[in-house]
Amino acid sequence: MIQSHGYAAQQSNTPLAPFSFTRRDPKDRDVVIEIEYCGVCHSDIHSTRNEWHNAIYPMVPGHEVIGRVTAVGSQVSRFKVGQRVGVGVIIDSCRTCPSCRNDEEQYCEAGTTLTYGAYDRYGALTQGGYSGNIVADEHFVHSVSTKLDPAGVAPLLCAGITTYSPLRHWNVGPGKRVGIVGLGGLGHMGLKFAHSFGAHVVQFTTSESKVADAKRLGADEVVISKNEAAMKKEANSFDFILDTVSAPHDLNAYLSLLKRDAAYCQVGLPDRPPVINMGNLLMKRRSLSGSIIGGMAETQEMLDYCAEHNIVSDIEIIPIQKINEAFERVLKADVKYRFVIDMASLKQ
Ligand SMILES: [Zn+2]
Ligand SMILES: [Zn+2]
Repeated sequence: MIQSHGYAAQQSNTPLAPFSFTRRDPKDRDVVIEIEYCGVCHSDIHSTRNEWHNAIYPMVPGHEVIGRVTAVGSQVSRFKVGQRVGVGVIIDSCRTCPSCRNDEEQYCEAGTTLTYGAYDRYGALTQGGYSGNIVADEHFVHSVSTKLDPAGVAPLLCAGITTYSPLRHWNVGPGKRVGIVGLGGLGHMGLKFAHSFGAHVVQFTTSESKVADAKRLGADEVVISKNEAAMKKEANSFDFILDTVSAPHDLNAYLSLLKRDAAYCQVGLPDRPPVINMGNLLMKRRSLSGSIIGGMAETQEMLDYCAEHNIVSDIEIIPIQKINEAFERVLKADVKYRFVIDMASLKQ
């Protein structure tokens, strides 16, 4: 077994604290990665605090993992020792169902294996990237260009692909008027991608203080969503709206902004169901949908796109010792726009 050291939650109400555990020795198709950086995703907070009621402890969170390959199994073909790589939200799926065969492993009909807080096919509890190393099948490992700042790349593995995938699926590009709801970890990536794809991008935010930043990140217009008159002016004008907000909020005000046949896509996961006025959908044949991360091929495509177009997340780097403080600041939206843990700090 491989020794690993990280930070774990032992229960839903305890802070993250140092924790030692083991990982499997690499099998034929496994890649062993020494972790350099790990992003801090809002799901890490939901999960460690059992807010989705499926937590398994002890839990080492973290699914925005960047590191260097330190060993490979005998059948590994895509990676070499020393290469920079990334691991995202899932580390396994059945590989045989229609979704898996269609490169949409995130929708595996047998269920995916999450990078942390799940039991893998060998019966072991998976542990995430707030740790010194990780072992994963090469199918769930991505190559990362050394052209990009590795700390800024880490959030692409969850926040990046979560926004890239639906923007691609709904063909966001030139000539399209696209709304991004929420300007946080997910939202700022959605804004960067939609702008990069050539769409006319309107950022929705509750906060006046974010207007200048939204424009800097690529917004053509910013609408303060609390301003009813400003919202009404936007009625029937959007080809697509991506909603990145994970706190409960009213969708109806946004649904009425879509054109006929346009889609609203939710990527944040509120812990309470929304109340939808169905009139907002049926009057203009609008659709309400959701999307979660992306397949492995699409995740690689996204990382390659980011290398080509020089796109990374806006981040604040922290040592692992500051993780509990960082969680509190994420909850107050006091971060621009993603915390990333410098895993070298584990050795301090
Ligand atoms: Zn995440
Ligand atoms: Zn499957």
